[in-house]
Amino acid sequence: MKTWKKRTNAVHAGIRRSQYNEVSEAIYLTQGFVYDTAEDAEARFIKAGEDEFIYARYGNPTVAMFEDRIAALEGAEAGFATASGMAAVNGALTSILKAGDHVVSARALFGSCLYILEEILTRYGVEVTFVDGTDLAAWQAAIRPDTKVVFFESISNPTLEVIDIAEVSKLAHAVDATVVVDNVFATPVYSKAVAQGADVIIYSATKHIDGQGRALGGVILGTEDFIRKTVEPYMKHTGGAMSPFTAWIMLKGLETMDLRVRAQTATALYVAQGLEGDGTLSSVIYPGLASHPQHSLTNAQMGAGGTVLAIDAGTQEAAFKLLNALDIWTISNNLGDAKSIVTHPATTTHQRLSDDTKAMLGITPGLLRLSVGLEDCDDLLDDLRDAINGL
Ligand SMILES: *Cc1c(COP(=O)(O)O)cnc(C)c1O
Repeated sequence: MKTWKKRTNAVHAGIRRSQYNEVSEAIYLTQGFVYDTAEDAEARFIKAGEDEFIYARYGNPTVAMFEDRIAALEGAEAGFATASGMAAVNGALTSILKAGDHVVSARALFGSCLYILEEILTRYGVEVTFVDGTDLAAWQAAIRPDTKVVFFESISNPTLEVIDIAEVSKLAHAVDATVVVDNVFATPVYSKAVAQGADVIIYSATKHIDGQGRALGGVILGTEDFIRKTVEPYMKHTGGAMSPFTAWIMLKGLETMDLRVRAQTATALYVAQGLEGDGTLSSVIYPGLASHPQHSLTNAQMGAGGTVLAIDAGTQEAAFKLLNALDIWTISNNLGDAKSIVTHPATTTHQRLSDDTKAMLGITPGLLRLSVGLEDCDDLLDDLRDAINGL
């Protein structure tokens, strides 16, 4: 087959048509599949062929369409779809690791990712070393000959640190460690993570892939060998599979994701530029701004700053006042949605962290994470400006 570019793959890759030759992907809402004979059932349990399914926890035609489409889009050999982004993070890490293994992870992580690394993996005898992900010397010092996995978010949540996938992958591969990247903030639109050296790429499909705040989902992407031999046996027996209905939502989401993410990114830059230099805010953090410490890395790695920015109102009191004065921006904790969403990480997504950890991660009392949606860019900026002027 001819190789297609991302936008063509996002619309056409992975299609499996039924005998009716439908245009839009069919939803196969079935958990099971019928075998013509006892011998057929036996043969399929020994080895299922390309278009043969056994049970929806193992795989389903609608889910397979989503897996094949997102894998093609990312340039990965294969994917396994999961019930949520966290099922993907947990499935990828737990299926690779065993007691005694060593992991090096960036410290700036989504709260639930941090919980898996800090609380769950360590309970099963995995040793985890945390580093400042933007410091290559720190990665080099922490990675050991016995390091099995290196884990990071390519842009961290919520402080928007950008991690050098190519350089960290080189250090990891020198000791044969597997590089696992949670790539939510980069989105499949701007990701070149396979070419840059990532071995395993994870998306929370809940974010930009759905992009309309409807369903939870996730996906683990990697080589055919890794997905079939490491991830699939773990996932199919532990039950973190994506539902066929969710897979259909995500398939339709992929068709419009490129347009949405590029529009949201353009507005994020517009809003960041509009707020930068505002005397009331103590900072505006956006990887697409020249003032961002990893701005040139962002350009080389992704070519754009993404759909999320952060601002610091100075104090929790000012942050709350700002939040409560907004008309268009919704107070919630999703991101990548068509609706613009604002979050106060210190009291919500990262509430459980100690004050010291929050301070170390840059999660200050006044920090607000802004996920830019599809509304008019001037309306969004005006809404923020009005709220800021009221401080
Ligand atoms: C949201 C998010 C997750 C978790 O995804 P869910 O679909 O909510 O389980 C993991 N990592 C990052 C970076 C996220 O933003």
